[in-house]
Amino acid sequence: MKYYCEDSQQVLQELNSQKSGLTEKEAAERLLQNGANELKAAKGKSLLRRFAEQVADPMIVILLAAAAISGVLAVLENDSFADVIIILAVVLINAVLGVYQESKAEKAIEALQDMAAATSKVVRDGKMSSILSKDLVVGDIICLEAGDAVPADARILESASLKAEEAALTGESVPVTKLIDQIFLADGERDVPLGDRKNMVYMGSTIVYGRAVAVVTATGMDTEMGKIADALSQAQEGQTPLQRKLTQLSKVLTKLVIGICVLVFAIQMIRAGSLNFEVALNSFMIAVSLAVAAIPEGLAAVVTVVLSIGVTNMSKRNAIIRRLTAVETLGCAQVICSDKTGTLTQNQMTVVDSFGVKEQELSAAMALCSDAELDADGSVTGEPTEAALVAWASRIGQDKNLLKQSMPRVLEAPFDSGRKMMSTVHKRKDDYIQFTKGAPDVVLTRCGFYLEDGQLLPMTEEYRKKVLQANKSMADRALRVLACGQRVWTKKPESEDADLLEQELCFLGLCGMIDPVRPEVKAAIDECREAGIRPVMITGDHVDTAAAIAKELGILQDGSLAVTGAELEKMDDAEFAEKFRNISVYARVQPEHKTRIVNAWRNAGYVTAMTGDGVNDAPSIKAADIGIGMGITGTDVTKNVADMVLADDNFATIVGAVEEGRRIYDNIRKAIQFLLGSNMSEVLSIFFATLLGFTILQPVHLLWINLVTDCFPALALGTEKAEPNIMKRKPRDAKAGIFADGMGFDIAYQGFLVTALVMVSYFIGHFMETGEWTITNSAHGTTMAFVTMSMAEIFHSMNMRSQRGSIFKLGSRNWLLLGAAVVSLLATTAVCEIPLLAGAFGFTSVEPAEYLVALLLSVLVIPIVELVKWIQRRSTR
Ligand code: ATP
Repeated sequence: MKYYCEDSQQVLQELNSQKSGLTEKEAAERLLQNGANELKAAKGKSLLRRFAEQVADPMIVILLAAAAISGVLAVLENDSFADVIIILAVVLINAVLGVYQESKAEKAIEALQDMAAATSKVVRDGKMSSILSKDLVVGDIICLEAGDAVPADARILESASLKAEEAALTGESVPVTKLIDQIFLADGERDVPLGDRKNMVYMGSTIVYGRAVAVVTATGMDTEMGKIADALSQAQEGQTPLQRKLTQLSKVLTKLVIGICVLVFAIQMIRAGSLNFEVALNSFMIAVSLAVAAIPEGLAAVVTVVLSIGVTNMSKRNAIIRRLTAVETLGCAQVICSDKTGTLTQNQMTVVDSFGVKEQELSAAMALCSDAELDADGSVTGEPTEAALVAWASRIGQDKNLLKQSMPRVLEAPFDSGRKMMSTVHKRKDDYIQFTKGAPDVVLTRCGFYLEDGQLLPMTEEYRKKVLQANKSMADRALRVLACGQRVWTKKPESEDADLLEQELCFLGLCGMIDPVRPEVKAAIDECREAGIRPVMITGDHVDTAAAIAKELGILQDGSLAVTGAELEKMDDAEFAEKFRNISVYARVQPEHKTRIVNAWRNAGYVTAMTGDGVNDAPSIKAADIGIGMGITGTDVTKNVADMVLADDNFATIVGAVEEGRRIYDNIRKAIQFLLGSNMSEVLSIFFATLLGFTILQPVHLLWINLVTDCFPALALGTEKAEPNIMKRKPRDAKAGIFADGMGFDIAYQGFLVTALVMVSYFIGHFMETGEWTITNSAHGTTMAFVTMSMAEIFHSMNMRSQRGSIFKLGSRNWLLLGAAVVSLLATTAVCEIPLLAGAFGFTSVEPAEYLVALLLSVLVIPIVELVKWIQRRSTR
């Protein structure tokens, strides 16, 4: 059906709809019949594929090879298959856990995307409401305005200067002006190309200017977007910088390990002097042990899980992460550039003061020039600034609905934050009257006249000064000031072009509205400062209003400056680069100034967050390291490019997210340090034992420690609460590597420490069995070494609750970690004590005395690490 070739009345008829919308009942039926308005997402990875990906890991391949060789050996020597079974079981458990964790993390992120799901303004049963875009049906009447993403294909019924950007469909990035007129096909023409269907809007495009009412003609896969959806590549969530660094690290480790394995294998063979099968096999098993010991199997999974738990936590605190990278970057944030209205303030406007003509006259003009509506019950719906005006008029007896009846709106030039004005033209009995409202400094430049006692007088310098004086006095009291002017037309103006309308105005007056600051923001700003983060206010409002609020909040202090967009424009890049550090407030800015401000900070190396809501804010949000969209007042356009969306539009939420970001990164580092430290001690133990000529632990033992004993505590470390000083230290350096802040050293010495304890335990075990201090293979020694290593890891995980702080002074408990420790402890004891398992692992049963020795040795990691931390703290003080 070519809806664009018919007039709007016909379209409505065909779709069985009307301007007052469908009924809720009808809409529900249609939804049931035709399904949700959604593009079918590309199929996710299949379970099998995920499984295959887990098993394709080089480390797993080595293990499988080891299992195969052990298997062959068992057949040849008529031995037990215990090794093979254990290795295969561990590989299987590992892969299943990996798949499970990966899907769970993905689900968590999908759930978040649902939270940020798009909504549309729809008219049903004659009333406008906001519904989830996926519930739209054909025939629904939708209202579109600047910043909206078009939710479905629709035929335009009413339009006020509507412009849409349709690049996703047509490749044309210049916005197209939309009309309501029917399109006629020329003779012989069978259809018009999509880009020329000026009376239609399509899913996947965005409204960049104006307003419109339209009727939905197609939803979901029936839309033009749906038809090409197959060709769309789903945007893939990339890895975060940390995850990339870790992938690189494990690649390097893998190569290194393979190199070392080959070397050890060669040394062993040369040492044996002959090429006999048994030596080759023994050497191979040592090489495999080393490989198992060195590769941090659980690491990737732990990082993914901690990130996904963190993201879920953040959403509970109203910060919805749209790009996983933001979690890490948040922890490094050094500058937060924030809008004023709605983010720092409550965006609940009330007119409290006015200047100029009589209040009745002024409020009536402003109410008519407003898109907010007065409902039957006396309440007002609409954007807060607009609503405040209608409410004000209504308070002094000017009912907007009555005003509308006597002066219906015939034309309009919508508000845009670049122009900072909005105009409407209304029909009166014999002529037309235009009202323009907007920022006083702008409106005043368009006024050639003013009204005094009902008399039209030419604007004088003196009167202009009086107006500016009144404006300043309101702004200094932190009021948001709007000016209003009027213009009489004998004929209806020929176009709704703003430039044509907005001149030769007659000044009517000013109104000042309060917008109280959000109560929690002051504390959040103080917290920012303590955390080494610089808050900067950027607003479209007047500089005096902005400065008054910034002072109240503590953003403007210590001789920092408030600068206007015009002043900013006068500075060249060199001058700005010199001064930007000292500027805390930017007022009367244009959206493009925001990009310049972000870039100035970023070019100087600061990690910068930037909030935005308007349709023109997308470039600056994109330019920022952390682009923040507004969940309530924000446009779809800004939300779509944002890294994070604030569900409550609140500045304090950003600061909360920064804290959460810092905590998550800390915890991931704790888990990394713990796991790598454990690998280090395993490698060193195997290495020294091989040098001394005995086998301390078998590959299956190391596998057990890596995948069972280590995994639970590492995950539990990921849930560690924030350390008390987390918002009292400077932001982390974004460029710092994984091993920054002495973590490399910590891993090394802690690895050596555990190795030493394990070796001692081995020899004691051997001694307690035989009464000899000899260097030789000993099942008793191996069992003791295993117990000590497992237990030391468990105790060491307690150390890792803080990299440098004493664990006795954390003031918090990590019950999950205690639980994980108990589980790991039980698992370790079980493999040593349950005869069937112990046999399979080649353990001998240990006497209580021996067990106690192993336990005591392993507990030593706590006091020793505490001591080193104490020395470290003292030396950095
Ligand atoms: P922020 O950037 O902090 O959200 P803001 O809401 O004041 O501040 P804009 O929405 O760009 O920024 O508004 C800029 C100026 O335009 C306002 O200070 C006001 O003078 C004027 N203005 C705002 N809304 C309207 C409106 N609906 N009609 C006419 N003028 C408006």
